[in-house]
Amino acid sequence: MADGGRADVDSQPLCFRFTKTAKARTDRTPKELLRRPSDLAEWLAAAGLTEGGRLPEVDEQLLCEARELRESIYRAARSVADGRPLTEADRDRINAWAARNDAYRALDDTGAVWRFPGPSPARSALAVLAADAVDTLGGARSGTIKVCAGTGCVAVFLDTTRGRSRRWCSMGTCGNRAKKDAMRVRHETAPSPGT
Ligand SMILES: [Zn+2]
Repeated sequence: MADGGRADVDSQPLCFRFTKTAKARTDRTPKELLRRPSDLAEWLAAAGLTEGGRLPEVDEQLLCEARELRESIYRAARSVADGRPLTEADRDRINAWAARNDAYRALDDTGAVWRFPGPSPARSALAVLAADAVDTLGGARSGTIKVCAGTGCVAVFLDTTRGRSRRWCSMGTCGNRAKKDAMRVRHETAPSPGT
């Protein structure tokens, strides 16, 4: 699927970008970025999943459902990455959301935009994320869905490199940190001058 009409520096599938709204997943209390309904509305807008850039209406109930969908997508991606079958509950939730997908792409003066003809654009946008998860998880070639090797990061990502050599969810964060750590280790283990 398209990236929602926006150029993304990391060009990860929308559904995987969505899973990164929970950070530090290995901690006892993962960092929740979708704390309030407005957080979800703003995330959808930033992901390009709005009509005309308008913030969609989100209530507490939809926020809860969005988090549940996000966790199902995350667990399903981990299963694919580990070569395990998806749990029925996660598969059913993703499929149920994807089945409600009534959004479509259209051309306007600015290019390709989303149209959400249903009563709740935010709900429709979540269905788009679920449909993207179906495409991403179902269409991925073996070994392309991975878990980030970054310290304390277990984000899922799609490795589109030819040699399947990508190890980090993002070069800007985890990749960069790993490089710096490796440099520091080299520096610390190098003999100091004069010895
Ligand atoms: Zn990472």
